Amino acid sequence: MWVEVILPVPVHSTFTYAWDAESLPAPGMRVHVPFGRQRCLMGVVRSVLLEAPTHEVKGILRALDTHPRIQRQQLSLWDWMSDYYACSLGEVMQAALPHFFKLEEDAEGPFTISDGAMAHWRWIGRQSDQGQISAAFEQLSRATKQSEALLQYFQVALRLPQEEGDFYPWVAQNSLLEEDGMDASSLRALQKKGFLEKTLRMESEAHWPNTEADLAALSSAQSRALAEIREGMEEGKPVLLRGMTGSGKTELYVHLAAQAMDLGQHTLLLVPEIALTAQLYRRLDRSLGRGRLLVYHSQVSDGQRRDVWEAMLRPDSAPRLILAARSGLFLPMERVGCIIVDEEHETSYKQQDPAPRYHGRDVAVWLAHQIGAALVLGSATPSLESYQNARQGKYLEVVLNQRFGIAQAPAIEMLSLVKYQALQQMEGPFTRPALEAIAEAVGEKKQALVFQNRRGYSPFLTCMACGWTEPCTDCDVAVTYHKTSKSLHCHYCGQSREPSPHCPSCGKSAWQWRGLGTERVEEHVEELFPEARILRIDSDSTRKRAAMSQFVDWLEHGEVDIVVGTQMIGKGLDLSGLDVAVVLNADNALQLPDFRAHERAFQLFTQVAGRTGRRDLPGKVLIQTATPEHPVLLAVQQGDYVPMAESLLADRKTHHYPPYVRMIRVEVRHRREYVAQQAAHFLAGQLNAALGGGVLGPDAPSVARIKNVYLQHLWLKLPADRSLSVIKKRLRQTADQLSFHPDFKSVKLVLDVDPA
Ligand code: ADP
Ligand code: ZN
Ligand code: ZN
Repeated sequence: MWVEVILPVPVHSTFTYAWDAESLPAPGMRVHVPFGRQRCLMGVVRSVLLEAPTHEVKGILRALDTHPRIQRQQLSLWDWMSDYYACSLGEVMQAALPHFFKLEEDAEGPFTISDGAMAHWRWIGRQSDQGQISAAFEQLSRATKQSEALLQYFQVALRLPQEEGDFYPWVAQNSLLEEDGMDASSLRALQKKGFLEKTLRMESEAHWPNTEADLAALSSAQSRALAEIREGMEEGKPVLLRGMTGSGKTELYVHLAAQAMDLGQHTLLLVPEIALTAQLYRRLDRSLGRGRLLVYHSQVSDGQRRDVWEAMLRPDSAPRLILAARSGLFLPMERVGCIIVDEEHETSYKQQDPAPRYHGRDVAVWLAHQIGAALVLGSATPSLESYQNARQGKYLEVVLNQRFGIAQAPAIEMLSLVKYQALQQMEGPFTRPALEAIAEAVGEKKQALVFQNRRGYSPFLTCMACGWTEPCTDCDVAVTYHKTSKSLHCHYCGQSREPSPHCPSCGKSAWQWRGLGTERVEEHVEELFPEARILRIDSDSTRKRAAMSQFVDWLEHGEVDIVVGTQMIGKGLDLSGLDVAVVLNADNALQLPDFRAHERAFQLFTQVAGRTGRRDLPGKVLIQTATPEHPVLLAVQQGDYVPMAESLLADRKTHHYPPYVRMIRVEVRHRREYVAQQAAHFLAGQLNAALGGGVLGPDAPSVARIKNVYLQHLWLKLPADRSLSVIKKRLRQTADQLSFHPDFKSVKLVLDVDPA
């Protein structure tokens, strides 16, 4: 027999090998094959061929599995993604398979989990010997992580059905590791010290704590919304749940997951920001019961990810809710009954680099249809794409226009920066009314939020003698000064260095910080409110794995008075004590050179406003701006999604932008600017000829050089109803022409379908 194998190479084809192994081949098995000069690569069998290929083929080196480890449904997803996003199957496979899959062996020993055995742990001693347990805790008094792990073991073990004999029960490793900040190394350390023993055993229902989900009673508005969602599900229509912030969308997700569990099905809940899973995790865990919740994203350990994969691959594991980043879409999904995409408008669902440049929401829509699962997209401010689909009847729109309980929508007020500057009523970046509102909140022991969508200390380091602004050495963009690390960072390529004492242009030493990042805002706040406890939340301060979980603790226990944050806090953080939110400067977001700028600004400010007044406090939102009459800001103020969406859609229609057209971006990359330009012009000519016009550009993007590579962009705008596959084929042919052209051999082309 012969097999067609997917290999992790950026080539648009698969590879045929002879199957020399003893076992029978099946799609979804992993193999080692020779490739090129004696290299050994791990590949996945895509199909089994019964007829000999016409050309001579090599044999596989060995089969790594005796059972398929990847479901057929996953292979079809890979096919579709490679076709839709115009990339190779190998690139999709690279994104889809977690790291552990690519190794034959891991630290735990031979890779033998295809039979469904999973690591389980138990206390080594007898139940009757409690003295041994207290002795252990005493011995571990300095090893905090290990004693926490041990405590966790006992807490889970005591809720499990007792096993025979005088031993404590075996506990599945992943039900231990779900606790934040805990990893398998603590368990292994406890094993070394002779406290825990480990075995591989089948996961069986009996070993999962018997959990009755503890669901909150729904309000009548929520019950009605849930009933409507179910109607959509029965019709097989995707549901767009447009629920204002604080209306209880998350509560509805819990009900949907519980319902799926009753049917023995898993639920996949996608969230846009990994850092926020900590808070959501606790909330879901409380309602669903221990053992029912799994987490899957890039910051979860390999061992845990493997357990999630296995649990979903097995036909008889307990049904779960999987809380995941977009990579969760690559899990074995055959038993998933419902996919939920929370905050579906978030652009972080789009993968920018490397290929596949996919949009998690769009893949979810395709996938749910493919596997016959229900699909729910949730947002207070849906993307125009999804809203348009609802308007056209492709999705069922369910509206939840009421905050839960006595919580009310916050009062939103505009503060004119022009006016307060003229009145000289500014302190640092704050207008006087904003300062007063923060002071009042802090005085009443409530919390205030200061929103500034820029991290670092200052985005520009400028010489006041000659006007020079310090750029990145490798990119055409200014570097940001970070005070915590006392260095200049490039937010495009990530490199950092110390600022030089003198201006490289005039030699003087007249540096000045221009512009405000969150670090600098934090500094202002510290000066203005020396007594207050201040917390900065941005991607720098939350870089460490457990940081966000710690922050959430502080926030929930009222140990923070003022939060300074970027858009990260807009992505669903539930801050119950928040009374005031101040947007320092709304104008940056409104003026971005992007056709989605207004849509994004509306979403962003609505989300920030939605952080306040979530319980009994009404909440107050102050937006500082030079243009208080801006229609986007007025819409935010009125909390009116529909008129805003309608007017933005009308604009998009007039100017031919999505969702009325489909866009493909072709990025041309080369180390020499001239070559990049020439290649882009050549390509534009070829494409215009092949497609009969419709190609825009080439032009340089606003940051035209990144890591010393020059960029040129071409844009294809295509009628929304025109089939993309023909066009992508043409694109690929033209790309081939380019790679054979003697002048453009080392030019790199990057295709981005539906760029965001
Ligand atoms: P959303 O996800 O729409 O922003 P949440 O689900 O976070 O809204 O709900 C807002 C707040 O109201 C949360 O603190 C939540 O615990 C509370 N809440 C919502 N629905 C209920 C309910 N049915 N019973 C009790 N509390 C609820
Ligand atoms: Zn200078
Ligand atoms: Zn750079």
